[in-house]
Amino acid sequence: MLTRHVSQRTQMWVMAIFGILFCVLPLLIVIRKYRRIQEQQNTNMKKVAGFCVACGYNLRGITSARCPECGAVRASLNENHDIA
Ligand SMILES: [Zn+2]
Repeated sequence: MLTRHVSQRTQMWVMAIFGILFCVLPLLIVIRKYRRIQEQQNTNMKKVAGFCVACGYNLRGITSARCPECGAVRASLNENHDIA
């Protein structure tokens, strides 16, 4: 009787571990990837609109290579960032 109870409890733990491995972890990976894509799109929108990608300062009309507000190097529209 006791061994059967322990066996059921062990089965429950094994199923819980498999549930985490095959359901929760892939979901977390997808959420993380989605957030990175959103961040990349937000950065690209700032570049296109002429704003500093670091602080959001309006860089239109400014010819220096660095942002006068935060000192970040201006991002080029041609830069490609890997989304990994
Ligand atoms: Zn800036």
